[in-house]
Amino acid sequence: MQTTEAFAGLFCLDCGVDTGADSHRCPSCGGALVPTYDDASLAAAHERLFADDGSPARSTGGLARFGPALPFDAETLVGLSEGATPLLSCPEWTDEWGPEVRLKTEAANPTGGTVDRQMALAVTAAREQGAEAVALPTTGPGGQAAAAYAARAGLAASAFVPSRSSFDTKAMTNVHGGEMNVVGGRYPDALAAFADRRGAAHSLAPFETPYRHEGAKTLAYELAACDPDAVVYPTSHGIGLVGLHRGFSELAATGVVDEVPRLYAAQPGGCAPVVEGWKERNTAVDPVEYPDTIVGTLEVPDPAGGAHALEAVAATDGGAVAVGDDPLQDMALDAARAGLPVSATGGTAVAAGETLAERGAFRDGETVVLVDPVTANRETDLLRSRLMSEGV
Ligand SMILES: [Zn+2]
Repeated sequence: MQTTEAFAGLFCLDCGVDTGADSHRCPSCGGALVPTYDDASLAAAHERLFADDGSPARSTGGLARFGPALPFDAETLVGLSEGATPLLSCPEWTDEWGPEVRLKTEAANPTGGTVDRQMALAVTAAREQGAEAVALPTTGPGGQAAAAYAARAGLAASAFVPSRSSFDTKAMTNVHGGEMNVVGGRYPDALAAFADRRGAAHSLAPFETPYRHEGAKTLAYELAACDPDAVVYPTSHGIGLVGLHRGFSELAATGVVDEVPRLYAAQPGGCAPVVEGWKERNTAVDPVEYPDTIVGTLEVPDPAGGAHALEAVAATDGGAVAVGDDPLQDMALDAARAGLPVSATGGTAVAAGETLAERGAFRDGETVVLVDPVTANRETDLLRSRLMSEGV
């Protein structure tokens, strides 16, 4: 594999063993792996990549602009100019809640979701390891992103999605040339079909590839200039929280940010295994037996990175909040009426942010970032149906 100077291989989040860059799970214990870096090289990379105020030295160029602090540089990365997404002011929530509230909207990514950051790195790793095909189970958006990045890299892609996944993601997976396997039932059924039928394809499943959560860390890199005190993130497998925790920890270690912000998981009440685990102060999650939420992207009853999400929340003194389907849709609609396109998935972060504000989790003078991981255009049915229930 053609890797960067700073990249030093992979290590296991569970047992700490070091292993080669082409591994999937830990060879010793089966735990999730993460990339590791030479401290001095990473510090030197940050010195070049960030201005004194924490803003990226380059404002365009996709993930490749952070290449020296990633496993792959601009020459090697499979890119579609992902990232560099807007960070919008939210004056109404700022007035109502107390802290300065900003919305990081990931809709501006090439396929409309934050998962593009993950696929840029994970598909690069697959190609560098000689894979000819990639495959993954997904609630939907990951299938479209995998198909697009695989096509960019000249690889075949195969997605296993539950039948309830949105029409748009299924259609666009096919449009990008990916193979679509629609599995009756819910996400665990798609996961089972993936395990049975993936064949020799290189797995892009959450936490099986060490490179998706590494791609997610670039969200922290883009938030460095705003130096948030708290980030609220809609959570399914935990990739986003783990990426934010690792990214901000790196930035704090080299002094780009003062400290790692408090990280909050937001989940719909009908499928909130991380929130339930947090309430019990557990270090692992118990699967949800009967998941039921309108937010299909977040309906993951047994998250692959549940324990790591709990660790990110605990280590940063953050928390985890469940919100009902009606409030999360209403918050998305309120935002839309104020001109901010927010998906139902993103509405989960907004409603959780409001709950946290009511509980006194934020102080005046703080900066709180809410993340909307996916374009509202992909969830028009959810938002429109809520309007119809109001007689509109
Ligand atoms: Zn291990």
